[in-house]
Amino acid sequence: MDFKSKIRVVEDFPVKGISFKDITTLLQDGEAYAAAIKEMAAMVETLEFDVVVGPEARGFLTGAPLSILTKTGFVPIRKPGKLPYDTIQHAYELEYGTDTLEIHADAIQEGMKVLVVDDLLATGGTSKAVCELIEKLGGEVAGLAFLIELDFLGGRALLDGYNVKSLVHYN
Ligand code: AMP
Repeated sequence: MDFKSKIRVVEDFPVKGISFKDITTLLQDGEAYAAAIKEMAAMVETLEFDVVVGPEARGFLTGAPLSILTKTGFVPIRKPGKLPYDTIQHAYELEYGTDTLEIHADAIQEGMKVLVVDDLLATGGTSKAVCELIEKLGGEVAGLAFLIELDFLGGRALLDGYNVKSLVHYN
């Protein structure tokens, strides 16, 4: 399927100069959404993982259905203050300032194999932070899977050493 034709590109959102890849148009097309998740599952077929980890909010929309299809569990990663039980945090640099992500401390056990899933790989900062959280808990990152990768931002280089797979590429 031509997934690019299902993704709406909105120029200058949220700020001038950003070409925003809006997946809501793909999500509302039942055939396209199902096909995208199925192809993402095929993309990670050779990877061995016990659980899918996805950051809010679009990591839920891609990671959760993928976890159902692969019959693995799903672990959410959230902004601070949203998860109710004991958490660990990781702060990471943004272009301006820092951001923090949280995971439940008991969500990943020592040696657990984890697939990281998000809608889009841009600079890789978010995914790198997700990997740090998993590794802090003793988990092993089996790979990372994205619906979209913005090749020109070089996020793959920041994730050097990890197995990175993406369905749709923008150059
Ligand atoms: P990064 O940490 O730079 O790899 O950014 C990844 C996160 O930011 C993803 O979870 C995306 O949802 C969002 N994002 C970054 N750039 C874009 C873009 N051009 N279009 C849509 N979402 C984006």
